[in-house]
Amino acid sequence: MRQKKFILPEQEIPTQWYNIMAEMKNKPQPMLHPETRQPIKAEDLYGIFGEEPSRQEVNMTDAWIDIPEAVREQYTTYRSTPLVRAYALEKALDTPAHIYFKNESVSPVGSHKLNSALPQAYYNKIEGTTNITTETGAGQWGSALAYACKVFGLELAVYMVKISFEQKPYRRSLMQTWGAQVTPSPSMSTNIGRKIITEDPFSNGSLGTAISEAIELAQRTPNCKYALGSVLNHVTLHQTVIGLEAEKQMAMTGEYPDIIIGCFGGGSNFGGISFPFMRHILSGERSGTRFIAAEPSSCPKLTRGKLTLDYGDEAGYTPLIPMRTLGHTFKPANIHAGGLRFHGSGSIVSQLLEDGYMEAADISQSEAFKSGVLFAQTEGIVPAPESNHAIAAAIREALVAKEEGKERVILFNLSGHGFVDMAAYDQYLTGDLVDYSPSEETICESLQSSVIK
Ligand SMILES: *Cc1c(COP(=O)(O)O)cnc(C)c1O
Repeated sequence: MRQKKFILPEQEIPTQWYNIMAEMKNKPQPMLHPETRQPIKAEDLYGIFGEEPSRQEVNMTDAWIDIPEAVREQYTTYRSTPLVRAYALEKALDTPAHIYFKNESVSPVGSHKLNSALPQAYYNKIEGTTNITTETGAGQWGSALAYACKVFGLELAVYMVKISFEQKPYRRSLMQTWGAQVTPSPSMSTNIGRKIITEDPFSNGSLGTAISEAIELAQRTPNCKYALGSVLNHVTLHQTVIGLEAEKQMAMTGEYPDIIIGCFGGGSNFGGISFPFMRHILSGERSGTRFIAAEPSSCPKLTRGKLTLDYGDEAGYTPLIPMRTLGHTFKPANIHAGGLRFHGSGSIVSQLLEDGYMEAADISQSEAFKSGVLFAQTEGIVPAPESNHAIAAAIREALVAKEEGKERVILFNLSGHGFVDMAAYDQYLTGDLVDYSPSEETICESLQSSVIK
């Protein structure tokens, strides 16, 4: 057999998201208010985010949260996403492992990001918000939110990291096609943008700066809220539709995964595929399942960062987040997996890693692309550069299974396709791709200059 797909009937698509915080024995440390240093309450976030997303952010009691009917209706336009047995990849690796992937690239925007963009836009709309601001790196989150805002009738302003704005014109065109206004960041439209341009007129921008600009604009504009595409608890909550579907689809195969893998930027697709399976570990119903977050060697917050309080943005407008981080002043190398270039990892994953429920693997850019090309040549789908990191980790595990002669079941999340990232593949194919790994000094310096006083 070359490939086998498992799709759920519409009535089997989840009606609730899974909130792992309610079932964690050690709860994530609370986020702190940047001025008072008191634990954040939902009300403290209302000035920045929608109210329901703010309540979800701090909800440590309800394990299941209803998906609004209007959001579920949108989900059904592209869900369930297929769970696929990758026979051809298994054959090419000559491994006894069974490899499955959950294909989130089939969403209209080409990635998992729409799973959270839709509820965030919906909640803001029913709460009376008219305008949303956000940031985007490579443009995946910006395009997902642009489409979601169009669906629910909101205006969207996106700050796009300047180097991506210039180098990745097609995602900018996608956002504009779906009706969003896109500004390269740093820009002259905010205080923080003007400050950075004054200090460095040639600044390429960073995700941290773009977040600061988006928050600043939201706070100055009436009926305007900000939305974030990763890192925060409510974003990961929305992404659990991935794992909840995968759980039912794995049951259709008659197998249960031994190893579950997601690439890791801010943790939303990793948490999305993992947490519904991890709940069986937390309840004691199962043991031994391994969860692996695949991060880029160039931005290694899980494998080499430190658990501490840090801001989510460069200017320090966000609450203080207890997380494993490289420091909010960390400047990751300009790798192609733009969605993985974030300095921190969110509070839930940081606690789970600390408590030994999961592992992290660091993957170089060249190993990621080599794996992605093999995947494209066997399974036919050209993956996003971010997703290539998950594929590389899955291949590593499949080769270990081969060495040990074990029939292991591996499940990974294919977070997106790479059709708008072909320039990155060009570089790989012509041998021009460079691997980066920050030195210990660089990480120490960044952590030091990011210490919260
Ligand atoms: C944004 C993005 C990621 C990284 O974000 P997470 O929140 O860690 O999931 C990974 N893959 C794709 C395709 C993305 O767009």
